[in-house]
Amino acid sequence: MHFSPESYRIPDEPMRPFIDAEEIWAFLNRTAPVDEEVDRVIDRSLNKHRLTLREVATLLNAATPSQIRKIKEGARELKRNIYGNRVVLFAPLYVGNKCSNECTYCGFRSSNKAQLRKTLSGEELVKEIEALEDNGQKRLILVYGEHAEYDPAFIAETVRTAYRVKKGNGEIRRVNINAAPLTIEGFRTVKEAGIGTYQIFQETYHPEAYRQYHLRGKKADYNNRLTALDRAQEAGLDDVGIGALFGLYDWRFEVMALVRHTNHLEACYNVGPHTISFPRIKDASMLHLGDRHFVTDEDFSRLVAILRLAVPYTGMILTAREPAALRDELLQFGVSQIDGGTHIELGGYTQKEQKQDLNKEQFLIHDDRSLNEIIEELLAQDMLPSFCTACYRLGRTGEHFMEFSVPGFIKRFCTPNAMLTLAEYLVDYAPAETAREGWEVIDRNMKQLNETVGVEVDDRIKRIKRGERDLYF
Ligand code: SAM
Ligand code: SF4
Repeated sequence: MHFSPESYRIPDEPMRPFIDAEEIWAFLNRTAPVDEEVDRVIDRSLNKHRLTLREVATLLNAATPSQIRKIKEGARELKRNIYGNRVVLFAPLYVGNKCSNECTYCGFRSSNKAQLRKTLSGEELVKEIEALEDNGQKRLILVYGEHAEYDPAFIAETVRTAYRVKKGNGEIRRVNINAAPLTIEGFRTVKEAGIGTYQIFQETYHPEAYRQYHLRGKKADYNNRLTALDRAQEAGLDDVGIGALFGLYDWRFEVMALVRHTNHLEACYNVGPHTISFPRIKDASMLHLGDRHFVTDEDFSRLVAILRLAVPYTGMILTAREPAALRDELLQFGVSQIDGGTHIELGGYTQKEQKQDLNKEQFLIHDDRSLNEIIEELLAQDMLPSFCTACYRLGRTGEHFMEFSVPGFIKRFCTPNAMLTLAEYLVDYAPAETAREGWEVIDRNMKQLNETVGVEVDDRIKRIKRGERDLYF
């Protein structure tokens, strides 16, 4: 793949900081959202181009109801035409909440003595993974505070455990990571354990705001975090996820910076981020942040639509931080991955008491539906829940890019694999009513496949019903 270079005041060089806050503000302040230009930019995205910073600024400045409607319509169309009806499901698993940093928005910050600190023992980790497998999960993201205990060897060992634990027909087929920035050597160590995506969120890309929120510890070093995913690339870990924590600084600035980060990775490594995350600040233990940069639901849905159009080939993740109704709406704008049955308390998947307790978790979540409830609701909306991990296991990296740029890729690979992983879920874990709806959705999707692929999928579904597992294209 090849990306056309763009030039900025700070040229892109590997492992060098690239954010120029003044330049980003200049784009935002000097771009007028004329109707024709808004239409042109949306069209360019629908024609499968990643947008330039100037074009993204145009969409961010668009403010009339009709412009906003067109942006949301554009995102919906892009999602419908390119990605279809699949939604990938995963679960977060918190491994340890010890932390030596002082991020003022986070319940895990070191000064928060109210937080109960815990690292899962090897045995507890196994139990959590078994409980997740019993629910039907296949994809995990392991989450850690930043602490000397959670060094690359420790992270790698927890990843290996996740792959090793198998319960019944259950197994974890993809382990992603959300943890502190590492050195090149450290990234190499975790890559060897076979991780999928390594996510690091910059939180806020504005250097001055960043300084105010990150008071102590390694995370106080803005540039070390900004260049972390470059180090991952240097270590050969080319599957990386970026993100910003919305509510810390101006949301329009953060969207611009996420796109700048994307084109930095494209310019230096010829590969954009695999996923973009856009967590919004939620209540956390002893949290006293002002709401100056609070992002309303309306602005939040706008920003998700704009991100979809800005970076049309990237996976977009929306977590259970957000309530069910908003998540359902945002799925229409191109969110491609959501978590289900989420517990973020350490040991939360094996506990009977399921009430949220701010002193035991990082922040509050607002969607407490079980995995099966989420699957049922997706099916009711004719969406296709997927646990697919095929590309990563076949070494087909950059799958979102392929979905987006290789004609027929989705119909040939993604939809069939989604159907096969859903079929496994229906046979192994679903209650009768979910199974009935699930098979109907599989049947409807079968009719859309071309004949040869349809025959192959049908054959594999029969094999799944006879007890074979892990069949993919
Ligand atoms: N400790 C690692 C780090 O900071 O990169 C791992 C990630 S942390 C456990 C996961 C993410 O949660 C952070 O990157 C941040 O964006 C998000 N987060 C922290 N506090 C939050 C809050 N109060 N509400 C919502 N998200 C929050
Ligand atoms: Fe620690 Fe991460 Fe929370 Fe910051 S966001 S206090 S680094 S767990």
